[in-house]
Amino acid sequence: KEASIHENDVPIPKIPSFDFSPPPYTGPSADEIMAKRREYLSPSFFHFYTKPLNLVDGKMQYLFDENGRRYLDAFGGIATVSCGHCHPDVVEAIVSQTQRLQHSTVLYLNNAIADFAEALASKLPGNLKVVFFTNSGTEANELAMMIARLYTGCHDIVSLRNSYHGNAAGTMGATGQRTWKFNIVQSGVHHAMNPDPYRGMFGSDGEKYAKDVHDHVEFGTSGNVAGFISEAIQGVGGIVELAPGYLPAVYKTIKNAGGLCIADEVQAGFARTGSHFWGFEGHGVVPDIVTMAKGIGNGIPLGAVVTTPEIAEVLTRRSYFNTFGGNPVCTAAGHAVLKVIEREKLQENAFKVGSYLKQRLVELKDKHDIIGDVRGKGLMLGVELVTDRELKTPAKAEIMHVMDQMKELGVLIGKGGFHGNVFRITPPLCFTKEDADFVADAMDYTMSKM
Ligand code: PLP
Repeated sequence: KEASIHENDVPIPKIPSFDFSPPPYTGPSADEIMAKRREYLSPSFFHFYTKPLNLVDGKMQYLFDENGRRYLDAFGGIATVSCGHCHPDVVEAIVSQTQRLQHSTVLYLNNAIADFAEALASKLPGNLKVVFFTNSGTEANELAMMIARLYTGCHDIVSLRNSYHGNAAGTMGATGQRTWKFNIVQSGVHHAMNPDPYRGMFGSDGEKYAKDVHDHVEFGTSGNVAGFISEAIQGVGGIVELAPGYLPAVYKTIKNAGGLCIADEVQAGFARTGSHFWGFEGHGVVPDIVTMAKGIGNGIPLGAVVTTPEIAEVLTRRSYFNTFGGNPVCTAAGHAVLKVIEREKLQENAFKVGSYLKQRLVELKDKHDIIGDVRGKGLMLGVELVTDRELKTPAKAEIMHVMDQMKELGVLIGKGGFHGNVFRITPPLCFTKEDADFVADAMDYTMSKM
């Protein structure tokens, strides 16, 4: 017993029990894979940990390394695994569709594609019912911005500082963080002040920040814009919740300027925020275009743009299509994900477990000065580390240490934010209360030893 108690009374946390053993791994070691990666993979990739991790198996909220060691996946891929790694229903949907037909395009009819489009449309409010499938979130946002430009005949788009919308020409321009930009394509994007309650100059007063969008329209455009794009909670930017009242005020400004409002639901959609299926619903707005990816396919490459029939009409001006978007294997997976979220009540679980975990993290903030802020909704939570609470100095080195130590204890957690000092907790939505306790206990234990 003594051995498991640290001198400051925080016990070493134990990973919750879980009834699954992966098959033995006989492949190359982490070092061998790392050598291949250095030689053959793009040097733009980086890895999270001081010692790279070779992941071999996944089961629900757990991942296994080459030695069969189990880790709790508190990052959910990258907010991607919605219903659990290798969820049996999703695996079954993929396998059975693969055995019948692996590929079809929009040139032909296929029920796996049409059926999922119908199911997806039923989850959206208003007249948002026309679906265009893509392969990623980037592609979905590129298309959404193009639709807004075509529909309005304008080029100017307003996006937010600290946002992330993708890595192709247009979306890299819309993204508002220097880390993710190459400064090649930026044209026509105005980056408005971020309504960040923790770091922003107006605190939680959403309407004051919204005035900045109004000013961008007034001073930086002809008075008309193509649209506005925003996440409901910024993910890559460090789980930043937009100040209350911000989106309704901005949507009004944009509509008055003739623009379309695009909700980037790539991270916040698909039940992750718990209180609602879509993040924008938590702000009481209805967008003109909704983009999604990540959680829609539980890790399978799939994205979508959903808009109204009237707006979608602009795409008939050309033969706009892509080869793989709406691949039947991917849409079969997406449909299975939707059914699992509903049947297993994962939105309710995200709300319940997420609220519990947030409360535990808020308690840790009272105990550890290094925690500057705890925020987020459902199972989309952020913990910002600072070395000085007054000055909000980003704790960049410290976060790496905590992350490495939590990995040693068996927790994989995400990291992000403009300064790279924010923990991102976006696990599979099947996370349990015991899992939440394990994350909080591992963080507490690690911080207690610093
Ligand atoms: N939009 C948001 C909010 C994202 O978080 C991301 C990726 O992290 C993207 C768009 C781009 O998605 P993808 O990486 O699938 O292209």
